[in-house]
Amino acid sequence: MRKPLIAANWKMNKTVSESASLIKKLKKSLKNVKNREIVVCPPFASLSAVSKLLKNSEIGLGAQNMHFADEGAFTGEISPLMLKELNCEYVILGHSERRQHFKEDDDLINKKVIAALKNNLKPILCIGETLKQRKNNQTFNIIKNQLINSLKNISKNNILKVVIAYEPVWAIGTGVNATPKQAEEVHVFIRSLLSEKYDKKTAEETRVLYGGSVKPENIKDLMKEENIDGALVGGASLSAESFAKIVKY
Ligand code: PEP
Repeated sequence: MRKPLIAANWKMNKTVSESASLIKKLKKSLKNVKNREIVVCPPFASLSAVSKLLKNSEIGLGAQNMHFADEGAFTGEISPLMLKELNCEYVILGHSERRQHFKEDDDLINKKVIAALKNNLKPILCIGETLKQRKNNQTFNIIKNQLINSLKNISKNNILKVVIAYEPVWAIGTGVNATPKQAEEVHVFIRSLLSEKYDKKTAEETRVLYGGSVKPENIKDLMKEENIDGALVGGASLSAESFAKIVKY
């Protein structure tokens, strides 16, 4: 069975001291949560401090991005080896904000997915359509292209270490979430693409998260859908109270 995963994307928020304070609160409020995998993805600057605070806790650690090279002349970038040494287990790749503001494309994201897996990091691969694309009935085409191109040369064994996050761009940070029905429709489609590319069993075992304005008020209904295996949470993960409510939906 697919274990629900609730992941927090703090984006470019929280200084090191603010990160530490949020983690301390989360550790308290999420102490006895069972049957969930919980992951926080703080900004790079906070990873070391958060990693130390999460030692022996049930909360896992992820990064929000990385370069595909192990090391080299890439000023301002972070390598998979650096993330591994900080005990990161996950890395968010292909977030729409990276695609939009930093011009990341599927080929680059594919290189990053391959590099993450090579270094034993589990990618949280984000895909999703813009509002214009949805209005033009391009959602399924966009999802198919992003998924297939980002997963080039990823083997059946490796796809099980990848988490897919369906994040419609129009729902990110807008307060308007996809309805459970809208999200489920795309999740079913993603699973069918995985089934075609790999096989039915592999598709059934791969987790597909929903992301986009997830809040304590809407998580329960989203999680009732058969193919929604968890959430990638932005804004609502910045408060311990709201993130804990989401985790305990
Ligand atoms: C995100 O950034 O991945 C996200 C889903 O943001 P928000 O929850 O704020 O819409």
